[in-house]
Amino acid sequence: MDTKSFVNQLNQITDTLLAMTPAQREVVHRSIQATQTEITVNELFQSLFNNLSQCPHCHSSHFKKWGRAGETQRYYCKNCQKTFNNKTNTPLAKLRKCHIWEKYAGCMELKLTLREAASICNINLKTAFLWRHRFLMAQSGKYADKLSGIIEVDEFFLAYSEKGAKKLTTKRVARKRGGNVDKRTKEGQVAVLLSTDSSNHMIDAVLSNDTASEIKLHLAPHIIENSVLCSDGAWAYVNIAKTTHCDHKRLISGKNRVIDKIYHIQTVNGAIAHFKGWIDVKMRGVATKYLPHYLAWFRESHSKLNSQQILQFAYGGQQ
Ligand SMILES: [Zn+2]
Repeated sequence: MDTKSFVNQLNQITDTLLAMTPAQREVVHRSIQATQTEITVNELFQSLFNNLSQCPHCHSSHFKKWGRAGETQRYYCKNCQKTFNNKTNTPLAKLRKCHIWEKYAGCMELKLTLREAASICNINLKTAFLWRHRFLMAQSGKYADKLSGIIEVDEFFLAYSEKGAKKLTTKRVARKRGGNVDKRTKEGQVAVLLSTDSSNHMIDAVLSNDTASEIKLHLAPHIIENSVLCSDGAWAYVNIAKTTHCDHKRLISGKNRVIDKIYHIQTVNGAIAHFKGWIDVKMRGVATKYLPHYLAWFRESHSKLNSQQILQFAYGGQQ
């Protein structure tokens, strides 16, 4: 390319970049970075498949290559006599256009809306919706982090929502997003538990009953003994701190917000505010049945996964 045409093209590219939103520019930036990564999406899944090296139907390791469909290798299991490829029985099975997945995962890394992701990847909203939930399915409700050091925990409530449902299953009248919920009652609300520690680990759970035993069930197994647990005054945490041999700092509302200058629940409350703002404002509310997916997404974002790691997690790869 001669200098003159290079300058012309560079000017065009610069103009195009300047006309983009910051999020779109960030996607371009990451797409360029992605071309420099060493492995393709298919190679990534192939290596995850090779690690397991088993038939996804019967877990036998007696299988052989069985032709190809496009780029994808098929296999035949000598034990159960079924065929499969490297994505069979994963949440990514039978999804199309895998050459765009990394770009889509890049949109998830930026926590973009469906509309933004669909326009960046040039796919329709229905596909964007399908991919979002398939990409989050494997990690939904699967929080493996262990909490240690200074642990903060709190619960929060979100309005119950059947967003997107054609038929409401409850008799209540459809409520506009962000509508007022009576804060004094738990009626029509869903309780969520969130806990973080000083090393950026995160645990979350949608609580069906919001009882002390349910909180303990979700939290206690993830606490490493002899940590410091900071919570509000709820009695549920007194018991958890005792069984996990943690020093317990109870921040009783109206009394003390910080104990000994370092113990508080402001980090976890910051994360909660961040999550609620993202769900209510950016995502314009989400259906309660998908809440575990959004919590998984929030957790992935909290641990700063890149697009290939997001795909690896989507495949069901270990944390
Ligand atoms: Zn088999």
